[in-house]
Amino acid sequence: MHQLDMNFSLPPRVSELADRVKAFVNETVVPFEKDKRWTSHGPTDALRRELNALARKAGVFAPHAPAEYGGQHLSHIGRAAVFTAAGYSMLGPVALHCAAPDEGNIHLLDVVARPDQRERYLKPLATGDVRSCFCMTEPAPGAGSDPGQLQTTARRDGNDWVIDGEKWLITGAEGAAFAIIMAKTSGAGMEGAATMFLADMSDPAITIERTLDTIDSSFVGGHAVVRFNGLRLPADAVLGEIGQGFRHAQVRLAPARLTHCMRWLGAAIRAQDIATEYARRRTAFGKPLGEHEGVSFMLADNAMDIHQAQLTIWHTAWLLDKGERASTESSMAKVICSEAIARVADRALQILGGLGTTRDTVVERFYRDVRAFRIYDGPSEVHRWAIGRRIVTHGAR
Ligand SMILES: Cc1cc2nc3c(=O)[nH]c(=O)nc-3n(C[C@H](O)[C@H](O)[C@H](O)COP(=O)(O)OP(=O)(O)OC[C@H]3O[C@@H](n4cnc5c(N)ncnc54)[C@H](O)[C@@H]3O)c2cc1C
Repeated sequence: MHQLDMNFSLPPRVSELADRVKAFVNETVVPFEKDKRWTSHGPTDALRRELNALARKAGVFAPHAPAEYGGQHLSHIGRAAVFTAAGYSMLGPVALHCAAPDEGNIHLLDVVARPDQRERYLKPLATGDVRSCFCMTEPAPGAGSDPGQLQTTARRDGNDWVIDGEKWLITGAEGAAFAIIMAKTSGAGMEGAATMFLADMSDPAITIERTLDTIDSSFVGGHAVVRFNGLRLPADAVLGEIGQGFRHAQVRLAPARLTHCMRWLGAAIRAQDIATEYARRRTAFGKPLGEHEGVSFMLADNAMDIHQAQLTIWHTAWLLDKGERASTESSMAKVICSEAIARVADRALQILGGLGTTRDTVVERFYRDVRAFRIYDGPSEVHRWAIGRRIVTHGAR
């Protein structure tokens, strides 16, 4: 009989790190949740830097970063354990420097950047000296769910490129040192193709038009409208190959989707813990809430949603570690997790009653923040549509 290659135990190095992250988040990060520097446009850079310093001191800073920049180059399974532990507080990923968009940008640059670009952009990003942003989405009629609608242009002018266009919902643009910009390249044989560029945000041709007031508040710098007005970039600003922007974006896409699931799973576990503690302590009609079936069923449904999210994350991470693209699985994980975790947030808030609607617990912020997760990195409908299209074209899995 063949031994099955299926094993749910983590390598000791990873579980030891995840335990240390759990302790760090509980003891050191959670007390910062009432800090006034956690604003409606996200934690400030001053708060981020203070948390980063504490994470460095605790030896848990940026474990996903390449080893040459002080990280441990964690596998996807390793990230699943560690990022979920970090997500127990919505400030945990900020502290560990594993929040979006920097975490995904570190991964993209690690795979695609040339050695000189690694030195100039990846090194300060991986070490947490600077932040970055990823500029893809545009207001209508530009790129949104359909990247093919890209309107931002990159025009060749001698050896330079000139970029014009407007992006919006760009996380962390305010305060970022550099941007990765997706633009439509024109010229012989490149009609409809896209290219990625690296640009310093200090360039006067880049303006942040406004920071948006959004439903969520856990990303440093919030989300902004960014304009490129005749942004002139040298030939070596191209990230990867000319015309291969969408292909390179795939490098970022599946893993970045999954790491969102990991971090939000941590927040769901926290909400369940808070709701459970309340259901044990608070009484109504002569007994603790948790002994009423209506409440215990909500806790049970939460546990099942959390379990389902956990399993789909592990499976997709395992495929990615084997070198597979896991496009379908990461799409399924994104939908399963974003919807299951939103249900957990909703039920936890319900169990807390009036308390759930206040900011006396983090459940209220979690409930609002996680709503956006069903939209960014592909709305649920787009993933369902992509999964369905593959089923119709290639048959059931
Ligand atoms: C909090 C947050 C952070 C973000 N950060 C970034 C960032 O850093 N960088 C960046 O580039 N972008 C970012 N985005 C943008 C995000 O990627 C887009 O919002 C997302 O891709 C959807 O595009 P859209 O908003 O233009 O929606 P639209 O394309 O206008 O779609 C609207 C709705 O139409 C439906 N729909 C679309 N296509 C289909 C289909 N094929 N079948 C069925 N229904 C469909 C879906 O319900 C969808 O929600 C962020 C968004 C949010 C909310």
